Amino acid sequence: MPSPTLASLTTLRLGGPAEHVLTISAPADWADAVRTIGQRHEQAPVVLGHGSNVIASDAGHLGTAVVMNTRGITATRVDDTTVDVTVQAGHPLTNLTAWAAAEHLAGMECLVGIPGTTGAAPVQNTGAYGQQVSDTLDHLTAWDWEMGRMRTLPTQACRLRHRDSRFKSNPGRWTILTATFRLTRSPAAAITYRPLADELGVPLSARPPVAEVTAAVLANRHRRGLLLTPHGPAARQAGSVFLNPPVTATQATRLSATGCPVHTDGDGQLRASAGWLLEHIGYRPGYKIASGIRCSERRTLTLTAHDGATATGFAQALTELSTQVEIATGISLHPEPTQVGAWA
Ligand SMILES: Cc1cc2nc3c(=O)[nH]c(=O)nc-3n(C[C@H](O)[C@H](O)[C@H](O)COP(=O)(O)OP(=O)(O)OC[C@H]3O[C@@H](n4cnc5c(N)ncnc54)[C@H](O)[C@@H]3O)c2cc1C
Repeated sequence: MPSPTLASLTTLRLGGPAEHVLTISAPADWADAVRTIGQRHEQAPVVLGHGSNVIASDAGHLGTAVVMNTRGITATRVDDTTVDVTVQAGHPLTNLTAWAAAEHLAGMECLVGIPGTTGAAPVQNTGAYGQQVSDTLDHLTAWDWEMGRMRTLPTQACRLRHRDSRFKSNPGRWTILTATFRLTRSPAAAITYRPLADELGVPLSARPPVAEVTAAVLANRHRRGLLLTPHGPAARQAGSVFLNPPVTATQATRLSATGCPVHTDGDGQLRASAGWLLEHIGYRPGYKIASGIRCSERRTLTLTAHDGATATGFAQALTELSTQVEIATGISLHPEPTQVGAWA
C-alpha cells in the first residue's frame, strides 16, 4: 500500500509521503502510540491536528506523523458562575466554541470560525478579534518526548505570547493531549477590538450576550474571507501567511501617518498590519506569485494553492514577499504557518 501523503493531512494539500501515519482516536490509544514510536527508535513524531497552519515538505517525513483525532468535552462546575472545561486535543475548535456559546459560557466567543483542533490552539496561542487562548486556558496535559512522560502544565508554564508558545518554539518536544479552559456563565468578555464593536454596533468595553458576539464574529469573518471552505478557489490555504510584525513607536507613527493600521497586541507590543504592508508595495487579492500560488481573491495576506503548486514553491513565495517588504519598508515579516517534515 502506498504511504499516505502529508498533503492529505493538511489544508494546503501540499506535502510528500509520511513513512507512517498514526491516528489517535481515543485517549486510550496514546500509550500504544508511544510504544510503537519508541520501537521505531524515533525521538518524536510530527504531530498534526487538522493541518490548517502548516506547510508540509514535498519530501514528506521519514518517520511517524501522529494525527490527533480524539474528541470530547468534560465540564466541571467550579462555582455558580465558573466552569472548567477539559477538551480532548483532537476536538475541533469550532465545535468547542459552538458548544460554549450554546451553554452561555463566555471567554472564547471571539475564537469562533477558526479552523483546527483544540490541542493545536495553544501552540500559537490562537486568537482573533481581541481574544486568545491564553485568556481562558487554565492548564493542559502533554506528552513530553524529551522526558518520556506525561506532564501537566499550568498556563504560565506554556509561555503563551502573541501567536507563540514554548510548543511553537520547540517543535517536536511536546504533544498536547488535553486542554482545560476556565469559562464563565456571563455575558461575553468585554469587546476590545474596534471592528468587532462596529460590527455589533456597540462601544468598546461593551459586554453583549455570547451568542450575539459569536454571530457578529462569524459574519465579519465570512465577509472578509476568513472562513475555511472545503471547495472553491480559497479551499487550499493555511490562513494568514505572515504575523503582523512588531514595530517600534517611531515606526508606528510613520506607518500610521501613511495609513497602515497599527495595533497593540496582548503583550503590549505595537504591531503593523502585514496585509497592509503587502498591499502598500503592490500586491493585491488574486495576484499570481508563482506557478499555482496566488494571493487569495478575497485577501492579500492569505496565499492559496492551485494546480502546479509545491510546498517548496509556497515557501519560496513567502521568502519573495517578505524580501520585497523588507527592501521597501525595512520591516521583517515572519511566516505564521510552521514547516513540518524534511526541509533542506
Ligand atoms: C481560513 C483560516 C483562518 C484562520 N484564522 C486564524 C485566526 O483567526 N487566528 C489564528 O490564531 N489562527 C488562524 N488560523 C490558523 C489555524 O487555524 C490555527 O493556528 C489552528 O489553531 C491550527 O490548528 P490545526 O489543528 O489545524 O493545527 P495544525 O496545522 O495541524 O498544526 C499547527 C502546529 O501545531 C502543532 N500541533 C498540532 N496539534 C498538536 C498537538 N496536539 N500537540 C502539539 N503540537 C501540535 C503542529 O505540529 C504544528 O506545528 C487560520 C487558518 C485558516 C486556514
